[in-house]
Amino acid sequence: MRGMTQETNAQSAVLTGLRCRCYKCGEGKVFDGYLRLKTACEVCGEDFAKGDTGDGPAFFVMFGALILFGPFYFLLPLVDWPVWALALALLTLTGAMLGFIFWALRPFKAILLNLQLANNAAPAEFED
Ligand SMILES: [Zn+2]
Repeated sequence: MRGMTQETNAQSAVLTGLRCRCYKCGEGKVFDGYLRLKTACEVCGEDFAKGDTGDGPAFFVMFGALILFGPFYFLLPLVDWPVWALALALLTLTGAMLGFIFWALRPFKAILLNLQLANNAAPAEFED
């Protein structure tokens, strides 16, 4: 039963994170601005200050961008196109990659925060 509850919590945390909402009530917004977190949920009062995603969202989003867009940066120069067409393709590719990064950062940060809070994640403590 414990595993089922954790799985439900994880699913709920991911689904509410995709909408950038509080994992507990599913209504309150997580962000106060583009990536600045609110200190607490405006609906249920959940303390968001307990969670710290650090560089996690940036790592996952940049890694996804590398997998999705990286191969094109190696393949495009191999195509026998005029320089202006190649430059236009590279600019378009870079724009698409930046668009993906800025689009994905918010939900990834909200998902990681929600997973931390839903699972009571905390730094490791060692006993002497
Ligand atoms: Zn809430």
